Amino acid sequence: MKRKRKAALLILALALFLTLGPGDPKTVTAEALAQVEVDRPLVALTFDDGPRRSTTEALLDGLAQRGAHATFFLVGEMIPGNEDLVERMEQEGHQIGTHSYDHVYLTGLNARDFSRQVDRTESLLTGILGRTGFFLRPPYGKIDAAVEKRSDSPLILWSIDPEDWDDKNTDRIVEHITANAGDGDVILLHDIYPTSVEAALRVVDALHQKGFLFVTVEELACQRHVELTPGQTYRSFYP
Ligand SMILES: [Zn+2]
Repeated sequence: MKRKRKAALLILALALFLTLGPGDPKTVTAEALAQVEVDRPLVALTFDDGPRRSTTEALLDGLAQRGAHATFFLVGEMIPGNEDLVERMEQEGHQIGTHSYDHVYLTGLNARDFSRQVDRTESLLTGILGRTGFFLRPPYGKIDAAVEKRSDSPLILWSIDPEDWDDKNTDRIVEHITANAGDGDVILLHDIYPTSVEAALRVVDALHQKGFLFVTVEELACQRHVELTPGQTYRSFYP
């Protein structure tokens, strides 16, 4: 993590911590918890393929109400017209990463095509947020040696996949996640489906009841003292 951004996150976390107190489970961030050591299970919800206004906005509303952080891996071509949603994600403490420009396999691409997919999407985000440093989730989770070599950011996969795109059955998705989620898991969902948004919010409610905190991938890694390295693949952050 860039030192400046880390410092900014820490100040924000400490401010939240001091303002809201350590007793409120919805407001303690992992950055703050990294300073005090946590004995609560942590999970990272991750959302691919957006942003899509009709669904992502409702998800952001629901996450804000619940004090849950998530990570969004955005598709470049979905960004124009949704710049305000990207800004909102950042302002509300979510993490933003990239998921290619138009959702193609990154394996087998030459350097120029890789750049057109990844660097072009990063540039769009830099234009909106004025910073760099976006983690990469390759579409379909496909990674090869060339992707590892060309990526200038950590590659983030997942440890729980309810295949929410398949039957779009909210009850089944919720059941799959709540039955399998443990401390340090990274959960894959897609915020372009209303069923997945509803499922995600129900999962937050159910796991809050069990004492879980919802944090970003970056916060989760930080809490587990994992130094994220460009070109390396991460699927989970178990204690
Ligand atoms: Zn995808």
